[in-house]
Parts: sequence; structure tokens; C-alpha cells
Amino acid sequence: MKRVILFGAPGAGKGTQADMLEEKYGYKKISTGDLIRAEVAAKTHVGLEVKAIMEAGELVPDKTIIEILKKRLNQNDIVRANGYIMDGFPRTRPQAEELSRMEVDHEMAIYLNIVDEDVVVKRLMSRLTCSNCGAIFNVENNPPQKAGQCDFCAGPLRQRADDNEETIRKRIRVYRQQTQPVIDYYREKGLLHEIDASGSVEDIGEKLGQVMR
Ligand code: AMP
Repeated sequence: MKRVILFGAPGAGKGTQADMLEEKYGYKKISTGDLIRAEVAAKTHVGLEVKAIMEAGELVPDKTIIEILKKRLNQNDIVRANGYIMDGFPRTRPQAEELSRMEVDHEMAIYLNIVDEDVVVKRLMSRLTCSNCGAIFNVENNPPQKAGQCDFCAGPLRQRADDNEETIRKRIRVYRQQTQPVIDYYREKGLLHEIDASGSVEDIGEKLGQVMR
């Protein structure tokens, strides 16, 4: 079993690139953000508990997210896969420590680095997400074939509740304070590859492909 961890600020392109890696290598994408949004949409006990936290751009408690992740990792499609790609986990040091207790044969971490904060703010403000399958589009640089409709499942495209400027800036602050130290932890372990993620979707995909070889 292989584990690929994608790091990067909100808007760095983790979700889009994880979708592409899933298609290319057959690894399963696990987005903890998608898992949380599914709980919120289904109005489960957990979903109701974390809705406000998520919409404020803050992190849900480690214990909650770890439980949700473990449940997902135990599902058959993941257990049978050759590997999985983590999009949005770990985001804190305790999450990273928990993840390293879940052993795999191979592990790599890739940091999609963007220095200019305005680039990610702009990307997120023009992002559209399919409310049915979670596919990601961007009105500016990765538009759907038909306006407002998902290319893959024809579901309706919406702006995420947390993709507004105020919440985006908050998420970037949270990322700097809580997630940047986790990236250093993987760097110290010698597992980190860093790529410049300020270019186009294809550009970043190309660089990722080189690192994955
Ligand atoms: P994302 O889709 O990765 O941007 O995540 C959206 C939101 O879900 C985040 O702003 C958090 O509120 C929550 N979330 C996702 N992953 C995690 C995580 N690993 N730890 C804590 N909160 C998370």
C-alpha cells in the first residue's frame, strides 16, 4: 500500500491534482474536506457539530477528523487499492502523529508551494465545486463544458460556503499557524518533495508526474 500526502495552502491545487493522480495511477483520493462536507450535507450528528466550525474557516477537532478518516480507510475500496492520496490531512501535528501510526509500505509527501497569497485567494474565489460528486472547476482557468453543470455527473456546480474572501483569508492564517509546522515535520523525516504550484493545472500536473516517477 502506498500513501501520497499532498500539502499546500487552500487553493494550491491539492484537490484538482489528487483527482488527476487518481485517474492516472488508480490510487484512491481521500479528501477529509469532502468527508466533512458529506457529513454536513447529510445532517449527521457529527455534521451538525462541525458545520459552523467549517464555515468559519477553522479546523474541526483532531479527534473528530481522525475518527472520520479511520472509518473511510476501513472501507473496502480503500483496503483493496494499491494506494491512496491524502488531500487535506494531516493538518496538525497530532494528526500527523496519528497517521504515522497507520503504517504503509511506501509513503511520500508532496508540497504544492505558492508564495503569493493573492494567487490562491483569486483561485478560490473563482472555484466551483460539484455538489453531487465533488469535482472541482474554475471559471477562470478550468471551466466546465456547460456553465453551472458538472462534466462528470451533470450535477449542479456551486461555490463552497467557505470560498468567500473573509473565510479564505482566515483559512490561510489557520494553514500558516497549524499546518506549516506539519510540513516541516515531513521535511525532517526526509519524505518531502516540493514543487512550485503557481502555474496552470497542466503545469503542476507535469511537475507532480516527475516527482511520482
Ligand atoms: P478542504 O476541503 O480541505 O479545504 O477542507 C474544508 C474544511 O474542512 C476545512 O477548512 C476544515 O474546517 C475541515 N477540515 C478538512 N480537513 C481537515 C483536517 N484534516 N483537520 C481539521 N479540519 C479539517
